[in-house]
Amino acid sequence: MRRVIITGGAGFIGSHLCDRLLQRGLHVICLDNLLTGSADNIAHLLSNPRFSFRHYDVSEYLYVEGGVDGILHFASPASPVDYAQMPIHTLKVGTLGTHKALGLAKAKGARFLLASTSEVYGDPDVHPQPEDYWGHVNPVGPRGVYDEAKRAAETFVMAYHNAHGLDTRIARIFNTFGPRMRRNDGRAVPAFITQALTGEPIAVFGDGSQTRSLCYIDDLIDGLERLLFSDHHLPVNLGNPGELTVMELAELIRRLAGSSSPIELRPLPVDDPRRRCPDISTARRVLGWEPRISLEDGLARTISWWTEGGPHARIPGVQSSARPGVGTAAGAPGSQEE
Ligand code: NAD
Repeated sequence: MRRVIITGGAGFIGSHLCDRLLQRGLHVICLDNLLTGSADNIAHLLSNPRFSFRHYDVSEYLYVEGGVDGILHFASPASPVDYAQMPIHTLKVGTLGTHKALGLAKAKGARFLLASTSEVYGDPDVHPQPEDYWGHVNPVGPRGVYDEAKRAAETFVMAYHNAHGLDTRIARIFNTFGPRMRRNDGRAVPAFITQALTGEPIAVFGDGSQTRSLCYIDDLIDGLERLLFSDHHLPVNLGNPGELTVMELAELIRRLAGSSSPIELRPLPVDDPRRRCPDISTARRVLGWEPRISLEDGLARTISWWTEGGPHARIPGVQSSARPGVGTAAGAPGSQEE
């Protein structure tokens, strides 16, 4: 593999993937409309002759000249706050955007990797969730635009695999955290860190007994890289099976940040999953992968990045983000899911 496209490459996960594949010697083309991502995340890559950035809405049109060996489709709003604000966009990029990316992969004879999600399991009746669990999703609830778009995206991928023999991979990513998360994207880790560091109350939804399983970004990138270079075309869960309650997470972040913020309870958002934990037996067996970085270590690294201010560089001529507030330090309470 020599030249790859990463859609959503200026986002949290996509930018770390750009870093990794450049480190491996590949040429990386990042296509992103900077809707929820930020130019700050890739500014450090612009001087690399093997990296290029193109401002692109992949739901509308997708073409890149020359040979392409891999397409990694990561473009999509990913936090409940984002997809509540952009429901149609989310549905389009998960369905139409995936279709366009698959069309390009077919035209180029490229391998295709989809960033799918644990949200395909919805509010699960099976725990932990193995890949052969079909899920419990509300198609007409507020999360339906994201969950059902990703389910359709997986179906598109399998259809291209079966009908056209496309070489495909499906990563079902569970909650991931680390540097370059937006401080105000509403996910639990950035919200709690921001609140802990500013001394504001830490806002926990419900009674805080709902569980989450959180994977540090470096571990996820290792898993994605192994999946990309494997020959496994069926979905693979990538996440950290260490499960804790949202209340335990709030207390841990408060302690690691050396904060005395009080913890306050807020009403639980509609369709908030009660439990979330990956069964990673497939990833262990097929990829020889499992997370290595402890939650405490990952959170400490993330808090350090936060306090150091994160990256602030800008791409000349390109607005850092297409949306006001993206990439700023403002904290915003929101749903405490992926
Ligand atoms: P993110 O919002 O940081 O990144 C998404 C990127 O896609 C952004 O840079 C955004 O500008 C871009 N984008 C959105 N719509 C686009 C469009 N139409 N055309 C081009 N670019 C577009 O989110 P993330 O957390 O990095 O998530 C990346 C991918 O991983 C998403 O597909 C998400 O569904 C998936 N995922 C993430 C998690 C997680 O815990 N972060 C968990 C499961 C799945």
